[in-house]
Amino acid sequence: MNRSTTQMLSIWNPATGEIIESLPTDDRGAVLEKASRAREAQPAWAARPLKTRLEVLQRFRQLVKDNLENLAHTTTRETGKPISQSRNEVKGLDGRLAFFLEATETTLATRTVHEEPGLQEQLAWEPLGVVANISAWNYPYFVGGNVFVPALLAGNAVLYKPSEHASLTGQALADLLWQAGVPKPVFQVVLGGGSTGAALMDAPINAAFFTGSYSTGLRVAESAARHLLKTQLELGGKDPVYVMEDVNVATAAAATADGAFYNAGQSCCAIERLYVHEKIYEAFVDAFLETVDGFSVGDPQDDRTYIGPLTRAAQIDVLEAQTKDAVAQGGQLRRGGQRLERAGFYFAPTVITQANHNMLLMREESFGPIIGIQKVANDEEAVQLMNDTAYGLTAGVYGSDRARAETILKQMHSGTVYWNCCDRVSPRLPWSGRGQSGLGTTLSTLGISAFVQPKAWHLKG
Ligand code: NDP
Repeated sequence: MNRSTTQMLSIWNPATGEIIESLPTDDRGAVLEKASRAREAQPAWAARPLKTRLEVLQRFRQLVKDNLENLAHTTTRETGKPISQSRNEVKGLDGRLAFFLEATETTLATRTVHEEPGLQEQLAWEPLGVVANISAWNYPYFVGGNVFVPALLAGNAVLYKPSEHASLTGQALADLLWQAGVPKPVFQVVLGGGSTGAALMDAPINAAFFTGSYSTGLRVAESAARHLLKTQLELGGKDPVYVMEDVNVATAAAATADGAFYNAGQSCCAIERLYVHEKIYEAFVDAFLETVDGFSVGDPQDDRTYIGPLTRAAQIDVLEAQTKDAVAQGGQLRRGGQRLERAGFYFAPTVITQANHNMLLMREESFGPIIGIQKVANDEEAVQLMNDTAYGLTAGVYGSDRARAETILKQMHSGTVYWNCCDRVSPRLPWSGRGQSGLGTTLSTLGISAFVQPKAWHLKG
């Protein structure tokens, strides 16, 4: 590699604002070379018995456990995620690996769907080929693993492009996959920013699985359309929760504050809008503020820190603009609202009450430690406001009456609904978005089938 002409990628520590490493990026030529190596190697990987691929991923599962501390610290260094939350994520990957290792064989088994004398019809599955996995930085183990684990198990080669904000984590994952026995050309890391992602979309791949923002997702979809590629898009959200009047106020406030502020609100399914029944509105806001006051903000390497810096410095401008706009539209700034006077990309946990839907805060993805709380008079108003969004990732209801909650949740235009819980993902259930939250499904058996294509066998004789 000629370093003098290679563009370098700076890795920042969001907690200090300092560059901690510099990595060579892949230009268009390098991406094409990697795609061609993947294409060559994929058939042999697919030809191995599924049992062998399962053993390889089982070894990867053990290696992730053995390297928990190193992985968690790597992620915290480059994303600013509090170390306890990085550990939680690495540990959480285990449950997903366990599910995929258990469910893949039955999901991909060939089925005889019809039989009569002299005729058999069978449904079989084949891998897609070379899969591009363009990933986000906020949960690199989860959003990456949701794609590359089932993709590899199904016999695909993977070109994994971590976000430029999670490149060290991406490399660490690759090292463990290779140690586990995945051949190097079958799983390759493609490093770089947006232009590298765009080059990957133009390379000879068979499918693209993208996790990221709606605006980048659109560009990926346009590129996929030009090449007639199978595409999945896991995009953003503006997820609402409605708190009914019959909750335990303290419990609901603590749970929803955690749903809004965990990982500094940088979760695709973070609560971004709260609607609270007018009968408990004041009490709920008081309890919510008390919870937020208890959050420790600080150094993400400190075990006690709950809210660290934002991963991307530029998002602070978005949060400031949303705060300013909300206050101009009649919102009451109850906590935060500005960047913190310290090194790094910190924004104070921000709570705005008397929110309404004229505000950017209630309409556009915030992706930070900020929440708008709006008072509602009844269930009908809550339903109307919750569905008043172009996104459709998750929606939740807190209340003691399951039937009443289900009536509301059935009306939600979202891929996931929650009763008395939030910000939760299960490997056993499909993860999918509606509207601007995306296309396609990861996790569950559907998220295994996403990585294969059917072959119909008509057998006479
Ligand atoms: P971005 O859309 O900024 O980036 C996503 C990925 O796309 C990155 O790897 C990025 O590279 C790459 N990329 C950028 N431009 C292009 C391009 N033209 N062609 C191909 N790839 C490109 O999102 P973030 O990483 O900032 O992630 C945050 C977003 O992801 C939020 O909106 C969040 O809601 C969403 N998300 C959704 C999830 C879901 O399950 N629905 C899960 C997690 C996050 P680079 O970073 O190097 O620029």
